[in-house]
Amino acid sequence: MTAISESEAQQLAKKFEHLQPPDILTWAGKQFNGKIALASSFGLEDVVIIDLIARSDAKINVFTIDTGRLHQETYALMERISEKYKIPVTIYFPDNATVEKMVNDEGINSFYRSSEARVKCCHIRKVDPLHRALAPLEAWVTGLRREQASTRSDIHKVEIDHVNNGITKVNPIADWTGDQVLEYIKKHDVPYNPLLDQGYVSIGCVPCTRPIEKGENPRKGRWWWEDEAKKECGLHLNFKK
Ligand code: SF4
Repeated sequence: MTAISESEAQQLAKKFEHLQPPDILTWAGKQFNGKIALASSFGLEDVVIIDLIARSDAKINVFTIDTGRLHQETYALMERISEKYKIPVTIYFPDNATVEKMVNDEGINSFYRSSEARVKCCHIRKVDPLHRALAPLEAWVTGLRREQASTRSDIHKVEIDHVNNGITKVNPIADWTGDQVLEYIKKHDVPYNPLLDQGYVSIGCVPCTRPIEKGENPRKGRWWWEDEAKKECGLHLNFKK
């Protein structure tokens, strides 16, 4: 199921490089006609995109993944966003039997023990539910930005997601800076996670997220006990089980 081909995606990536996010979202909504959704973890970039979708007439749904280890502030924000924008948010959960087995076999916080254990937890709690969420779609939208991590420096605004059945991945703010994201939020009074004002720059699960010092690499706020090169949860990598 590929709504656009690899060569079409490459041409669109070139064409869209200097296009504004609302125009890219409008194109995506029309192109994939209801078979497209934003995968939101309710970080700063995601709330910006929700606001952009709400201001456009793009038919783009929103879903999230509840790993079972999220911050209370994230749950509160989900509700606030849903109410403000009148956008239903579909919530996907990990398979309960698989989580039970992992936790009972390996411990409640097995992810601190090794990179393999951490990746396994991310896979069970995030990647598997993501695959279920993406299965009926032809495209998904993300808030990925190139400057977020070395693993994201070459993302395009439109690309084929070879990890997820060759569906299309749309990254409308790929070239934005962190300051642009903050300016947008301020200008449009977009609700955001209050943990961000407490030094968290990257908000995921409670045990794997921490605040950082001013000037520190934002990725230090996640999985701080691991090498930088390994810091992806698998949602955006060619993950091998
Ligand atoms: Fe598990 Fe941590 Fe990954 Fe959340 S971020 S899924 S708790 S390893």
